[in-house]
Amino acid sequence: MVEGLKYLYGPVPSRRLGLSLGVDIVSAKVCTLDCVYCQVGKTTEKTIERREFVAVEPVLAELKQRLAQGLKADFIAISGSGEPTLHSRLGEIIDGIKQITDIPLAVLTNGTLLYRQDVRADCAKADVVLPSLDAGDEQGFRKVNRPHKDISVGKLISGLCAFRNEFPGRIWLEVFLAEGLNTDTEQIAKIKDAVELIRPDKVQLNTAVRSTAEASVKRLDAGKLQAIAASLGANCEVVPDFSPRHHGEHVGSVAKTYYQC
Ligand code: SF4
Repeated sequence: MVEGLKYLYGPVPSRRLGLSLGVDIVSAKVCTLDCVYCQVGKTTEKTIERREFVAVEPVLAELKQRLAQGLKADFIAISGSGEPTLHSRLGEIIDGIKQITDIPLAVLTNGTLLYRQDVRADCAKADVVLPSLDAGDEQGFRKVNRPHKDISVGKLISGLCAFRNEFPGRIWLEVFLAEGLNTDTEQIAKIKDAVELIRPDKVQLNTAVRSTAEASVKRLDAGKLQAIAASLGANCEVVPDFSPRHHGEHVGSVAKTYYQC
């Protein structure tokens, strides 16, 4: 672990991305959603307004320093302690990273702002985009993800479809499932319909592995996850060992949380 870094953490082992260096570009806990399973905790600012949470230059300077020290990573993962597409200069950050390293770049996002052309253009600069979809209808979306009032599941799905049509890179769609929350037959059928519209390269199922914003969220057992994966089609897999979306780790004396949405 390298001391004194403000925006970077890791590399940490991620089941979805291998060894991954996180780049945290959004303040805790600013998000478009307030998911019941969030491992960062409750959303303190629910917004859809993009802004410059951190300046671009110090993030890139830190990465240059980290590369100069010798960095081995499978991915650089743009993430944050909230929703990273809320950063208004996300595209510049990705451009800057790509100018200084060939390490593949991933964006971990809840996908809710992909209805915006500027957000799609920013995300399209990445090699892999990992969005989320945890419900197939509005009722389920509100129950699981507690969105900002101007976000709906229809907007989320159409944004993901638009992004799929424009983005030649890989899309790995994550579906978080919790016992008794979004696992009934009707909800899974609706999620399947949405997946068929979105056409991601992979669908990855995850469940609760650590503390969640709401203590009532229950882990789904491996057998049920595998059965749902089989019903969702050949490109659907269960994330091995149910990788946590947020990896807690310590940087110096400051507890950092690795955002994995
Ligand atoms: S899980 Fe991700 S998308 Fe959901 S509230 Fe937490 S940070 Fe936001």
